[in-house]
Amino acid sequence: MSTQTRDEPLPSLADLHALNALQQPTYPDQSAVESVVAQLRIMPPLVFAGECDELRQKMARVAAGEAFVLQGGDCAETFAGVTADNIQRKLRVLLSMAVLLTYAARVPVVKLGRIAGQYAKPRSSDTETRDGVTLPAYRGDAVNGFAFTPEDRKVDPQRLLGVYNASAATLNLTRAFVTGGFADLARAHTWNADFVKQSPAGARYQALADEIEGALAFMEACGIEDETFRTVDFYSSHEALLLEYEHALTRIDSRTSRPYGVSGHFLWIGERTRQLDGPHVELLRHIRNPLGVKLGPTTTPETALELADRLDPDHEPGRITFITRMGHEKVRDILPGVISKVEQSGRKVAWICDPMHGNTFATANGYKTRAFEDVIDEVNGFFDVHEGLGTWPGGVHVELTGDDVTECVGGADELAEADLASRYETACDPRLNRNQSLELAFLVAERLASGRIQRASEVPLLG
Ligand code: PEP
Ligand code: MN
Repeated sequence: MSTQTRDEPLPSLADLHALNALQQPTYPDQSAVESVVAQLRIMPPLVFAGECDELRQKMARVAAGEAFVLQGGDCAETFAGVTADNIQRKLRVLLSMAVLLTYAARVPVVKLGRIAGQYAKPRSSDTETRDGVTLPAYRGDAVNGFAFTPEDRKVDPQRLLGVYNASAATLNLTRAFVTGGFADLARAHTWNADFVKQSPAGARYQALADEIEGALAFMEACGIEDETFRTVDFYSSHEALLLEYEHALTRIDSRTSRPYGVSGHFLWIGERTRQLDGPHVELLRHIRNPLGVKLGPTTTPETALELADRLDPDHEPGRITFITRMGHEKVRDILPGVISKVEQSGRKVAWICDPMHGNTFATANGYKTRAFEDVIDEVNGFFDVHEGLGTWPGGVHVELTGDDVTECVGGADELAEADLASRYETACDPRLNRNQSLELAFLVAERLASGRIQRASEVPLLG
């Protein structure tokens, strides 16, 4: 198996499908798929190669222990969710978390949304049965509809054009928000103003925003005015699952003559499709974007290293991010071996903790949920392991929403299983609500800050 990527031609879609493609929709009419792919191939790129290069450089700083990643958003975006309010609320919670991580933990934060492209879902079964009726499983709005009806669940390739359009609209508004004044740090105290009275995390956030405002006023009085306080760099990311869509949105960059995935800045390979000889690894090893790979609890140290070697033969800084999702009970046992093997090879990758996907369970009343305390326990386990090894805990990857939904149990509001019914809105996995997201960010900031103090204390202060 060759690991050379530089001069190899991009494999064709047929080449990829010949590699036992898992988790793909079963399209009834191949000519309809080909027509959609042909249309997508001539659409303008959603992101630019230069932006992907810039993000790769930022991820290199994460791998070097100089920056932290916050990656978050819906499990599954929906077409109906592409509204100004919804996008704004998601950005607001992500930017709030990033601000408090930056300020409280004093680390630069790379901001990555699970946004503008996260429309396709891997599923454990191809079909779903309810009350004796069996229909195709919902695979995300990119493939079929959520409602349990034959019409909605019909697999339709036209939806791929919907993904392109929804992603373009989302990115357009996101770019406007993050550069057009909404992200101005001087306005950080307004982002959760509606929320302060109802929630301890909201109140704590407000106190911090007031401090930031004071710091900015001080800097301004000193004559320091900087454009970087008014805008943020924000990048899109999603799971590169659907081969037709990702292949059609791969373009050769005119500056470098190299292929880039232009459906999003950062693309990741999911836990179920990361086979070394599978089509997802094969496609993504050819593109130049920074890449993520999910690593679940069955990952062996050898597999992690083989994936890194296959996807990043040149050991390029920032190229590879391992997003580990071991589950809170296993993280402390399994993660050390994986990290050690990769680090001992001399590689520097970014390590991110996804404390969501190893901690999902079903309640007695039939809701898929996650317990906030398990999420926190996995994050703490991730930090413990990195602390033990002397490696850098590079970031967190969370499923969240800006809305006050009731999908994960626990947190300061002590949401119980019986509360889940009141606002359970996710199209796929349960997300942290705004309160739980801010709470998580405070806990992560504390861990980061105490790690810093610990490292600083190793240097004797006096004689
Ligand atoms: C996801 O991130 O929504 C997902 C399906 O994750 P994983 O591939 O880790 O199971
Ligand atoms: Mn998910």
